[in-house]
Formats: sequence, C-alpha cells, structure tokens
Amino acid sequence: MKLTSLFQKNKAVLSFEVFPPKKESPIESVYGKLEEICALAPDFVSVTYGAGGSGGHSRTCEIASRIKNTYGVESMAHLTCVGSNKKLIDFMLGDFQAHGIENILALRGDLAPGAALSDDFHYASDLAAYIKEKGGFDICGACYPEVHQEATDEVEDVLNLRKKVDAGATHLISQLFFDNSVFYSFLQRARIAGVNVPIEAGIMPVTNKKQIERMVSMCGASLPSKFAKVMQRYENNPEALRDAGIAYATEQIVDLLANGADGIHLYTMNNPYVATKITEAVRSLL
Ligand code: FAD
Repeated sequence: MKLTSLFQKNKAVLSFEVFPPKKESPIESVYGKLEEICALAPDFVSVTYGAGGSGGHSRTCEIASRIKNTYGVESMAHLTCVGSNKKLIDFMLGDFQAHGIENILALRGDLAPGAALSDDFHYASDLAAYIKEKGGFDICGACYPEVHQEATDEVEDVLNLRKKVDAGATHLISQLFFDNSVFYSFLQRARIAGVNVPIEAGIMPVTNKKQIERMVSMCGASLPSKFAKVMQRYENNPEALRDAGIAYATEQIVDLLANGADGIHLYTMNNPYVATKITEAVRSLL
C-alpha cells in the first residue's frame, strides 16, 4: 500500500520508526522486539538505513520486508544518497521492489569523514526526483522544525524543503523535538512556503540519560526547561526517568493531536514497552 492513501481529514496517522541491529549482531536479534512493536498495529513502520552502524541497505530491506510480509504492517525503507550513485540506487530500488516495498524515505544522509561526495545526488530532492522518474514508489522526505544544522536560516531551509516536495515527496516526517511550539512555528513557515503535503511530527520518548545527550548532540534539539527539569530530577532513577519520558512524550502527542497534526511518527528505539505504553495512551485520540 502506498502511504499517501493513509492521510485523510479527521484521522491522524500513527507510525513507528525502528532500526536494524548493528553489523556485528545477527539480524534475528531484533525480530522478537519488532514483532511486539508491529502487534500494536501502527499505520506503518519505517526502517532506518545505515544509521548507527547498522550496515547497508540489505538489512533495511530484509527488516522492511519482514514487517510487511510476515507481521502484516505496511513498511517504509529509508534510503540515503550522499555517497551513492545512480547504479547503486537502481540496484537497491530493484531489491526493495522485489520484496514488495512500496514506500521510500528519500534522504541525503551525512557523508562519512573522508568519503567522496556523489556526482549523481547532492540533496534529498535529487533522490526524490530520481525515484519519481523511475516510478513504483511513494516518496517521503525528512524535515527539521528547528532548522537543519547546515542551513543558514529557517527561510532558506523551508525553501529547500519546498524543492523536495516539488521533486516528488508526497509526505514528510519531522526530526524529533521536545517543544511543540517549535513544531507549530515550523508548520506555519512550511504552509506559507507552499509545502502542502501531510507532515508527521517526530516524537522521541526519552527514557535514559545517555539517549538525551546523544540526541541533543546529533540533531541539536533544544530542551525546554520543563523537560530539562524532569530529566534532571530523575536522572539517577532509571525506572522513574523511563516513566517520566513516556509521560512527557504522551503529553506532547495529546497536544499535537488536539491541534490537528497530520500524524505522529514515534521513534521507538526498538523498545516495545515504551511503544506499547504510548500507543495505549493515545490510540483513542487518533
Ligand atoms: P536534504 O533535504 O538534502 O537537506 C540537507 C541540507 O541541504 C539542508 O540544510 C537543506 O536546507 C539543504 N538543501 C536541501 N536541498 C537543497 C537544494 N536543492 N539546494 C541547496 N540546499 C539544499 N540518516 C541516515 O543516515 N539514515 C536514516 O535512516 C535516517 N533517517 C532519518 C529520518 C528522519 C525522519 C530524519 C528527520 C532524519 C533522518 N536521517 C537519517 C538523518 C539525515 O540523513 C540527516 O539529517 C542529513 O543531514 C540530511 O538529510 P536530508 O534528507 O534531510 O537532506
């Protein structure tokens, strides 16, 4: 199923993000958790590509295929292009297609230190245009409520986002954020710039201290004082921190849904307990 068909007026989409295990671990090591996560029946599950040392496209493809063909939940494969070329992308798209995958999150990705830039693809919009020309996939894109770290300012970033949509992205998923007002301002900018496709809000329940530090350094998300206080208070009590993280994310989602968000994309971190608690709390609000 193409994901565009999921977005309707008066019904918010709930999607999850999962990641393949690190290269050194057998792929089967995540199957139990993924099965539990899929049993929550989200509208779709997306599978990251190459992030956090999880290797190349084959694991993404295998997991996206398992989610769709074994667990019966629609899936979307992430695909980056920054160090790639048309020949490689053709091969990977062919593999996705052979496994019945119909949805791709077209990303630029980040160059590994010392790696060469692709001649074929400079931005995610180049990949989106290429996939659109080939046909056969619904294309999703990433967006950044707090502005992508390389963009000069929010105007430039949102105008670039418009290029990605014009190139073929029919739905967007946001980077994680902890302050909903940041997302609402971004949404306004995007709509003014003519970005009129559905935009899912990316929510990451923070459940341990290391995770917060890593997320903030990786994506530059700002921490509202309300959030920082909760995290500080419970940083040495793992169970309380986990529960506070779940409660904070749930509160964010309730507010987003009440404000008419097109969808919620939950960064599950492959954690079925957290995904279950949040899904149970918000299911009736979608
Ligand atoms: P782009 O949209 O190409 O944007 C990158 C920068 O270039 C921005 O500053 C933008 O303003 C600028 N720009 C864009 N188009 C143009 C243009 N035409 N002309 C001039 N400037 C332009 N990374 C992974 O490695 N694997 C994953 O699985 C993964 N999943 C992700 C999922 C989500 C929902 C998000 C939000 C991010 C994910 N990332 C992943 C991280 C992503 O690869 C990085 O954030 C990367 O730095 C940018 O990728 P992009 O596709 O957003 O790039």
